[in-house]
Amino acid sequence: MTKRSKTRAASTPGPGGRGPVAVLPNPPPGTRLAKIHEHLKSIGAPAYRFRQLVNSLHQPGVETFEDVRELPGVLRQELTEHFGRTVLPLDPVAIQSAEQVEKVLFETPSRVRLETVLSRYRAGWSSMCVSSQAGCGLGCTFCATGAIGLVRNLAADEIYAQVMHPHWRKDGGTLPASVAFMGMGEALANPHVFGALQLLTAAGYGGLSPRRITVSTVGFAPNLARLTNEQPQITITLSVHSPFPDQRAELIPLESRFALAENLAILDEHVVSVRRKVYLAYLLIAGVNDTAEHLEALAELVASRSRPELFHVSVIRYNEASGADPSYRAPSTEHVAKFVAGLLARGVHATRRRQFGASIDAACGQLHARYLLAPPSERADLVLAPGRG
Ligand code: SF4
Repeated sequence: MTKRSKTRAASTPGPGGRGPVAVLPNPPPGTRLAKIHEHLKSIGAPAYRFRQLVNSLHQPGVETFEDVRELPGVLRQELTEHFGRTVLPLDPVAIQSAEQVEKVLFETPSRVRLETVLSRYRAGWSSMCVSSQAGCGLGCTFCATGAIGLVRNLAADEIYAQVMHPHWRKDGGTLPASVAFMGMGEALANPHVFGALQLLTAAGYGGLSPRRITVSTVGFAPNLARLTNEQPQITITLSVHSPFPDQRAELIPLESRFALAENLAILDEHVVSVRRKVYLAYLLIAGVNDTAEHLEALAELVASRSRPELFHVSVIRYNEASGADPSYRAPSTEHVAKFVAGLLARGVHATRRRQFGASIDAACGQLHARYLLAPPSERADLVLAPGRG
C-alpha cells in the first residue's frame, strides 16, 4: 500500500459508516470518553489526537492506551496515568460459551458487573445483546435480572464499550451486524441509552445503521415516545406477555405506572409515521398466559392497532431463570408452535423467536451477572471453561 492510499484508508469510514473518519462528533457529556476528550484539550493536545484514539477502537487488538501507536509515547503514558490502562471502561472477567453463543461478564472500573451476549449464526453474521443497566429495578416476575434489583444505570460509553470491546475481535471476529438492547436492564428506564444510541450510530464511533439496532422495552412510555421522536429508525420491541391488564401487572409491575394501552398508542402513531414494523414480544409461560382466551385476546389486541400489518408478534418460550417465580414452567415446543399457528390463523403476523444459550443462562430473561456482588477474592474463579454452566 502506498503512503497516500494508507492515509486515505485511515480517514475513510468503512461500510455503513463503520471504521475511521476524519470528523467526529463530541462524545456524550459525563462519559469517560468525554473526560478523555476534555483532558486532551486541557493539556493542549491537537484535536486529531482524540480522533486517532477513537479511530483506533476499530482496529483489532487495541485495548490499552499503550496499544494506540498513532499517539506519541508521552501522551500514551499521560493517558494511562490519568485514566488507567484501558481505553474503554470495561474489562472482561468471565467468559462462557455454548451452542453458537458467547456470554461475557464485564466489569467497570468501579467494579460494577454486567453481561453481554454474542450470537454467531451459521450464515456468517453475528448479533449482540447488550445490557443497559446493572441489575434492574422493575421486578418482572419471570426475569432473573429483576430479581437482583437495580445496581445502577450504565453510562453511554459503558453500553458502547460492550459492542466495541476488542475481546470480540480476537481470533478474527468482526463487530456484530446487529445490536439488541435485550440484556440486563430496562433500556428506556436509563436516559443514558440515548447517548449510547448516538455513539453506536455515529460514523467513526459505532457506525451502525439505526435499523440494525433494536431497543426492547416492557413499556417505559415517556422514553418510548422520546425514542420514536429522536431515533425513529431504531427497531422497537414492546413486551406484552399478557393481553389482560391485571395479569400483565403481575408479570410486569410497570403496567400499573405505564399501561400497555398507553405504550401501544405511541406505537400506533409511530408505525403510521415511519411505516416500519414494530415487534410485540410474548413470553409464553405454561399454564399462565398460554390459554385459548389469551390467544384470542392477543389477536384482538393486534387487530385493533392503527396498522395491524406493521405489528409482528414474537413468541418466546419461557426460559427457567434463577430468581424468577419458581412456579413458572416452559411450555412444550408443540404448544409454542400451536400458539403461533393460532395467531397466524387469526391474521396476525407472528413467529417463534428462536434462542440459543439457555444452557449458560444467556437466553431472554436469564441474565443475572451471577457474580454481580462477588467479593474481589472470588475473581479468580470467574473465568469459566467454555461450555461450563
Ligand atoms: S424483564 Fe427487563 S424490565 Fe423486567 S425486570 Fe427483567 S430486565 Fe427489568
